Amino acid sequence: MKKTLYTAIKPTGRITLGNIIGVGNSLKQMQEDYNSIICVADLHALTINMPKEELNSNSYSIFAFYLSLGLDPDKCLLYMQSQVPQHAEMAWVLNNFTQFGEASRMTQFKDYQAKSKNINCGLFCYPILMAGDILLYDAEIVPVGIDQKQHVELARNIAIRFNNKVGETFAIPEPQLNKVGFKITGLNDPTKKMSKSVNGDTGTIFLEDSDETIIKKIKKAVTDSDNFVKYDVENKPGVSNLLTIYACLKNISIESAEERFKNANYGTLKSEVANCVIEFISPLRAKYLELLNNKEYLFEIMKKGAEKARKLAENKLKDVYEKLGLVDRI
Ligand code: AMP
Repeated sequence: MKKTLYTAIKPTGRITLGNIIGVGNSLKQMQEDYNSIICVADLHALTINMPKEELNSNSYSIFAFYLSLGLDPDKCLLYMQSQVPQHAEMAWVLNNFTQFGEASRMTQFKDYQAKSKNINCGLFCYPILMAGDILLYDAEIVPVGIDQKQHVELARNIAIRFNNKVGETFAIPEPQLNKVGFKITGLNDPTKKMSKSVNGDTGTIFLEDSDETIIKKIKKAVTDSDNFVKYDVENKPGVSNLLTIYACLKNISIESAEERFKNANYGTLKSEVANCVIEFISPLRAKYLELLNNKEYLFEIMKKGAEKARKLAENKLKDVYEKLGLVDRI
């Protein structure tokens, strides 16, 4: 029996190289190795109150991105979170199995609190909605970037607590991090995660960027004044980030990437990294843009995925409701 894997991307912005390397790159193989459940987490995106047109178009974009990676809806379960109402219901149940203190310790929430004025309850409960996403399908493996590791650990604690209090119900999930590439950082600030929102336009490479834009952004990437290539995240975060991108996209070790650029200057490093990003992204982008042009086709696949997901999620939620003493679901 294959283990169940769950992964999601929230449609809060355009797809980044961080998403591609952090999770996207390995998903095609994962759909062969695991019973893979892959979601566009659009309910999660509501936490940042984005314009409706943007939310809608980003949601389609991520769906198209998944398909362009080679995910096959006959081999994996691919769906849109808001089309499976059981996610919101499960989140409500799990709120009651999560301590206020433990939810308050989530570093992503604390970061938001420090930066933003819009601190709504959705942001605070976000990790509990995510726990529901994972637990609804008894996922054991959750591939994530480092930023989401703490949230998967929370889901794990909630599952253990629920099982102990109510009876064996959920599989216990485990975060799975890439050995390298679990945190691609911003090109303009290599100490921070490359993200859809934080690094602005110059620090982030987007799937939709043209080849020229990719070259320009990588040329401007912050490095240091040493001018020798070495992997040292603490002292040379910019160069280390470029080496990581190269190693991940070429599917080689960091050591091999270091060896490759042993005698190179930063100009050569940047131009080789730009070439390999373009080589990787341009076929993906072409496929993605073609799919995005056919929203009817995307919606058809969404509908089929949602039907399958609803069945699985309903079974689990029924079990949970019964165990808690709620009256039969109708
Ligand atoms: P998000 O875009 O925040 O919904 O994240 C979707 C997935 O991509 C999560 O598993 C993240 O951990 C991963 N991810 C996002 N940005 C990066 C990054 N800069 N480096 C590595 N993984 C990332």
